[in-house]
Amino acid sequence: MSKVHYPDTQLLIAGQWQDAADGRTLPVVNPATGAEIGRVAHAGIADLDRALAAAQSGFETWRDTPAIERAKTMRRAAALMRERAPVIAALLTQEQGKPLSEATIETMAAADIIEWFADEGMRVYGRIVPPRNLAVSQLVFKDPVGPVAAFTPWNFPINQVVRKAAAALATGCSILVKAAEETPASPAELIRAFVDADVPPGAVGLVYGNPAEISSYLIPHPVIRKLTFTGSTAVGKELAALAGQHMKRVTMELGGHAPVIVCDDADLELAVRAAASAKFRNAGQVCISPTRFLVHESIYQDFAGAFAKFADSLKVGDGLAADTQMGPLANGRRVAALDEFTRDALAQGARLLSGGERIGSEGNFFAPTVFADVPLDARLQNEEPFGPIAALRSFRTLDEAIGEANRLAFGLAGYAFTRSLKNAHQLSRRVEVGMLWINQPALPSAEMPFGGIKDSGYGTEGGPEALEAYLNTRAVSIANV
Ligand code: NAD
Repeated sequence: MSKVHYPDTQLLIAGQWQDAADGRTLPVVNPATGAEIGRVAHAGIADLDRALAAAQSGFETWRDTPAIERAKTMRRAAALMRERAPVIAALLTQEQGKPLSEATIETMAAADIIEWFADEGMRVYGRIVPPRNLAVSQLVFKDPVGPVAAFTPWNFPINQVVRKAAAALATGCSILVKAAEETPASPAELIRAFVDADVPPGAVGLVYGNPAEISSYLIPHPVIRKLTFTGSTAVGKELAALAGQHMKRVTMELGGHAPVIVCDDADLELAVRAAASAKFRNAGQVCISPTRFLVHESIYQDFAGAFAKFADSLKVGDGLAADTQMGPLANGRRVAALDEFTRDALAQGARLLSGGERIGSEGNFFAPTVFADVPLDARLQNEEPFGPIAALRSFRTLDEAIGEANRLAFGLAGYAFTRSLKNAHQLSRRVEVGMLWINQPALPSAEMPFGGIKDSGYGTEGGPEALEAYLNTRAVSIANV
């Protein structure tokens, strides 16, 4: 595929695409080449003040738009995403690195998510509750919470925004997004689809700049009624604490360290194929990426051999090249982090089965890496690796595997492979994660809850609960006089 021209990215304030008031910009770098490919506007406080005023007036217009009209507008945005997918996906690959096929899936999935939320937004019902005194009517209202501030990361630049924007817009909220400065153009295209579909000015806004400066200004601001954040647990805890001080509603989608339990009765071929391809998707920079592989001792060697073979076979390269199966890491921080995880695992006595090093000196390429027999005190067994690295260990009993799966404070995603219904039931009940996939790779969908428990956050970004997170519940009782 020939390169699509990569544009500079502006802010969206009050329905107008614009530079920052002081003209400040930041560079955007292609992680496959290390070259600067564009600039993104860096908002200052004056820009944020205008964006906040627009979010308030956009909310007042959008809240009073009938749900069926909101749904029609959102459906137009979904159609635009589908129509523009080839260009948007190419921008996403250039700024983030993932293979074009993955970027295309992410873009098309955004259209699907928008449509699902558009429809679900028409089914936000209140209730009439039977009264104890028949002269009284008891009503329950569901109202949009108000303007929302959303903070999203660079690993799924479109998907992380669309789950928030679609839920907010479906319920009648306005949303001011601060997307990731490192991957600005593709989320801007998502926001553009909403603008071009005629979402009223201010109902969506988009800013970039200094993340800490923007979050510390927006979260306490009286206009903002809700915070939604996707990113690391450390930052999530800081932002949730700030939101707590100002009594703002919060959804937190944070880090994970997903266990994969492969039982002795698993379909081994399915387990290797599903888990290994999920492991290296988006070069492992996925919050639900499988990371801690716990394999029954009777099939451990076979699993490890097949997994390493899969890793060795992957074609790593520029995401725009047709045969690339895994792209570069999205930024230099991940390369340094992966180097450290690798060094530490080796020092702790883990056995390196594949990869283990950077590839070349141009761009952020790191080889798909597999370690066996990784001790529990290695960093890889405790910190989220967020990269193409797998830690394998064997287990004897299911209890032992479940205990290890639950050992960490994370509780986002988990996977298991077994042919036994009894094991599947036990795993369903006892593995402490927000999302568990048994005998399949992760298949998140708009209609299923998406979110974690424990240190992986709270709230969900899928299913009807995702809309509930953007709604206030109010009780009204009317007595006859
Ligand atoms: P980071 O923790 O500095 O940043 C993570 C995200 O949070 C980025 O998008 C960043 O812009 C944003 N952020 C940071 N400080 C902020 C603040 N004070 N206010 C608002 N937003 C803020 O780390 P990073 O190097 O960008 O990413 C590394 C780690 O982040 C990974 O190891 C992973 O744990 C986590 N992460 C998780 C997800 C996810 O999907 N849950 C996505 C990306 C990164």
